[in-house]
Formats: sequence, C-alpha cells, structure tokens
Amino acid sequence: MSIDSLPPLREVIQRHELMAKKSLGQNFLLDLNLTGKVARQAGDLKDQTVIEVGPGPGGLTRALLAQGANVIAIERDERCLAALQEISDHYHGRLRVIAGDALDTDFSALANGSKVKIVANLPYNVGTQLLISWLLSEPWPPFYASLTLMFQREVAERIVARPDSDAYGRLGVLAGWRTEAKITFDVPPQAFTPPPKVTSSVVHLVPRVAPLACDAAVLGRVTQAAFGQRRKMLRQSIKSLGGEALLAKVGIDPTRRAETLSIEEFVALANAL
Ligand code: SAM
Repeated sequence: MSIDSLPPLREVIQRHELMAKKSLGQNFLLDLNLTGKVARQAGDLKDQTVIEVGPGPGGLTRALLAQGANVIAIERDERCLAALQEISDHYHGRLRVIAGDALDTDFSALANGSKVKIVANLPYNVGTQLLISWLLSEPWPPFYASLTLMFQREVAERIVARPDSDAYGRLGVLAGWRTEAKITFDVPPQAFTPPPKVTSSVVHLVPRVAPLACDAAVLGRVTQAAFGQRRKMLRQSIKSLGGEALLAKVGIDPTRRAETLSIEEFVALANAL
C-alpha cells in the first residue's frame, strides 16, 4: 500500500522527464517504504518543521509529509519544481519549495526561531560541505534538533570515526565534538535510480547541549591544518599555527600524528591558539 494517493514516483519521473543528472548528484529513491524508513529515523515528525535539501521528484518529501511534518525543501533543479508543486497541492501547502542552491541558503533564517529537523538524501558533491557548515553553526545549541542524512558509506564512517582509525579526520572531530552521531542503517546501490557505485548509509546526529567550550572557527582551522597533512608529525602539519611551541603549551608530544589525537586534545589545542 502506498503512503499517499499520489502517483508512483516512476510515473512522476516519466511525466516530468526527470532523467537523473550526475552533475547534480541525482540518485533518486523511488521506494516509498524505504523513504518512510529514512524519515522515521528523525523521530516523531507530527507538526514538526523539517528542512529537506534536494527533494528531487519528492520521494523522501512525501514520506516526511505522510508522517505529519511541515516541510521546507530547497531544490536546485528547476525541472523538479512542477512535480513538487503537485505534492504541495496534495498536502494543502504543508510543503514549501524554495528553488535555489542549498550552499547559498541561510538555514537558520529559514527555521525562523523554531527548532527544525534537517532530513535529506544529500547530493554527494555538496553533502560534506553542508554538514560542516551545520556543525560549525553559531550560536550553539543550534537551530536544529537533529540531522538525519544519507551519505556514501565511506563518508558516514568518517562522521562517526574514533581516533586511531583511517576514517578519523576533520569530520569525525567536528561531529564528535558537537553532536552524538550514529549510523542507523545502510542502503544498497540498487535501491537508487540510477544506482551509485557504492553503498550509502543514513547518519543521525543530535547536537550536544554542552560540548567542550571552544571557538568553532578556530577548531575548524586546527583540524584542517592537522589533517591536511595527516601522515606528517604534528610539529610539521600545524607549523603555521605555532607548531612545537603550541603543542608544548598543552603537553602534546610533537612527534604524534593528527589521527592519534582525541577530540579533547584538539579542543585544548584550539583553546591554546
Ligand atoms: N530527495 C530525493 C530522493 O531521495 O530521491 C533526491 C536525492 S538526490 C541524491 C539529490 C538532490 O539534490 C537532487 O534532487 C538534486 O537536484 C539536488 N541538489 C543537488 N545539488 C543541490 C544544491 N546545491 N542545492 C539544492 N539541491 C541540490
């Protein structure tokens, strides 16, 4: 049984000629049971405002609406707008579509003072950049109550990575510092149209109420320098930020490499800068 009485997504795609474009990271989810499962990871959505990036033909959007959310969706591909208008009409205006680029969008202004949930099957080419901008939001706690996001499995592993692993890097430090992040489930390539080359994963991130005190922008700079040359010793990789002298201030051995530092140690370095 369908989650709504709207036409199947394959028909919508055909009628509106929405052939997927690689340049826009378009891998569509057409199974409404699966989009329903993604939406459920965000918790109770009844009367919640959800911001969705890249609704495309609207598979995830329909699941969010069916679960009671009010949705603000930002889509860059103008070809999708007519299909999305049909969904908006069906749900009597509970869907507001913004035609534009998510990278130029002021998300906290869209939230307009209420706590929103962000839910998206992100275009792979801008997903990491968007996540970092949400993690570096000011003020903190941020304008969102949670982020429920589909990434390539390899990116999802970097988000939840712990020290001393190959996946641990800037993304793991920033996500672990400010949020509790977990991978909730994997989605195989064949679930998408067209299928991507790799497995995807849904990641759910909940902001920590009181992360260790630190200037987000400075931590961003420290992690960028340290992991920019991750195979090098820290005295070399963060030379431009003070190198050995800075490391001595917080008692970190200058011959260590970035991937061995805990989040607490990165925060201490940023605070010493
Ligand atoms: N939500 C749909 C689904 O799950 O089937 C589509 C997901 S598809 C992976 C990514 C979507 O993001 C596409 O609809 C694409 O046009 C859109 N998109 C790509 N870059 C974007 C950007 N910079 N801003 C807003 N939307 C973008």
